[in-house]
Amino acid sequence: MTELEHPQPAFRRVALIGIGLIGSSLARAIARRGLAGEVAIATRRQATLDKARALQLGTSYSLDPAEAVAGADLVVIGTPLGAYAEIAERIGPLLEPGAIVSDVGSVKQAVIRDVAPHLAEGVHFVPGHPIAGTEQSGPEAGFAELFENRWCILTPPPGCNPAAVEKIASLWRSVGSSVQIMEASHHDKVLAITSHLPHIIAYTIVGTAADLEASDRAEVIKFSASGFRDFTRIAASDPIMWRDIFLNNREQVLEMLQRFSEDLTAIQRAIRWGEGEELETRFRRTREIRRGVVDAHQAGSFDPREPEGPDGETDGETAGETSGETSGEAGLKEET
Ligand code: NAP
Repeated sequence: MTELEHPQPAFRRVALIGIGLIGSSLARAIARRGLAGEVAIATRRQATLDKARALQLGTSYSLDPAEAVAGADLVVIGTPLGAYAEIAERIGPLLEPGAIVSDVGSVKQAVIRDVAPHLAEGVHFVPGHPIAGTEQSGPEAGFAELFENRWCILTPPPGCNPAAVEKIASLWRSVGSSVQIMEASHHDKVLAITSHLPHIIAYTIVGTAADLEASDRAEVIKFSASGFRDFTRIAASDPIMWRDIFLNNREQVLEMLQRFSEDLTAIQRAIRWGEGEELETRFRRTREIRRGVVDAHQAGSFDPREPEGPDGETDGETAGETSGETSGEAGLKEET
């Protein structure tokens, strides 16, 4: 959507609590499209606040989320999940009736559990999750195009104000995303397989390689183009963020891990007993899944600013998170 389609800012004052990769990308995208009169930024550490100020990401800066949310008609929480409850407790009593609270967290049931009890009646809570990102962190890692041609999932709790949901949906559409609304429990199940399990696998395989003897480890890095490097990118993701994701989507993650280890055991058995046909059947099936991902326009470049390789993939990169949902809209790219 162009600036001309937004003659008036959609929001008077947006407070961004947390100004890392996602918060700073949203700040840049909002500024580029003139979607807010003011953008108030709050973060925990002075060094991060200084970076946000130097990058001119907002119109005001504070270490106190309470200061940022004063007079805000939209608050977006963009910190690791473990910080949500404390932030909600701090800002909840200060929000004006009619204000909308949203977020970008990667798990949704836990967010509703931690935030909703602190919000007064008349404050609308519309949890969200942009299926977009990179393995980088911090305000300098963000970019305005991050959400373009990506999905954003909204998980409004039952009874949520429809006009507030539409305002948040419109915000994400304005920054280039397609919006899918679903129940928080469904979101957490889908993301457990498309995003959380792949990250566990990546963290594990890179950890296993790190435990090898020094000489073997050097060769793992040297010959990493044979597959390992794709895991290293995912395994470079922020440790705190992922700690919080696994701890806050515990049941779904454990369920997917159980299924995965059963399948792994089956493959282990087929290799041990030389069952080539069994292996071939399994690998043919997964190749079909990859074709489906490509056909759904989900296999494009990981970072939209990077040049694409010959088959539409960024050179040597693979995806992180995917929503697993389709709405028939074309042109969507790979997600984190
Ligand atoms: P990030 O780059 O690491 O930035 C995190 C921000 O949260 C920083 O401003 C940081 O402040 C602040 N923060 C960290 N701990 C805090 C605490 N205990 N109290 C208050 N503020 C705290 O993180 P990100 O990648 O933008 O991720 C933010 C959220 O988006 C997470 O919930 C994540 O699940 C979700 N998400 C991430 C991705 C992705 O690919 N990265 C994609 C979709 C959704 P200081 O630097 O001042 O400490």
